[in-house]
Amino acid sequence: GSSATPCASCKLLRRRCTRDCVFAPYFPPEDPHRFATVHRVFGASNVSKMLQELPAAQRADAVSSLVYEATARMRDPVYGCAGAISYLQQQVSQLQVQLAVAQAEILQRINHPSPMDDDDKAYSSLVMQNDLMSTLLLQECLCFCNFLKIGKLRRKL
Ligand SMILES: [Zn+2]
Repeated sequence: GSSATPCASCKLLRRRCTRDCVFAPYFPPEDPHRFATVHRVFGASNVSKMLQELPAAQRADAVSSLVYEATARMRDPVYGCAGAISYLQQQVSQLQVQLAVAQAEILQRINHPSPMDDDDKAYSSLVMQNDLMSTLLLQECLCFCNFLKIGKLRRKL
């Protein structure tokens, strides 16, 4: 009805938000920034077409991938989240080198025991950092794959 608050998309586009508005379930009025970002990067009409082509069950995932990719492209206009992935890959390989060095030092210390244990703390924080970066990388890759999958799906239709 007209008494309801329009969704973030219709508000930005100054349209009447109808009951079957394709954006309304995914872009609530409380979070206008989400739609603004997606609109700036992909354009509202492309997003609307894409959502209509997808089965309803896949739309929420598609929207979160689009929001994710749009946010990444605002940060890095050329590479989008591919840029974030290569940055994280660099971080992971650097951490792996540091880990290898720390492991070698620990092995040496086992052969020549010393009272210091600061290095052990440094080592476990390295391991934790490495885990965290790997997790981030995995998430980033998953989002990226999701995005590519949706792209392929679109071309098929
Ligand atoms: Zn709407």
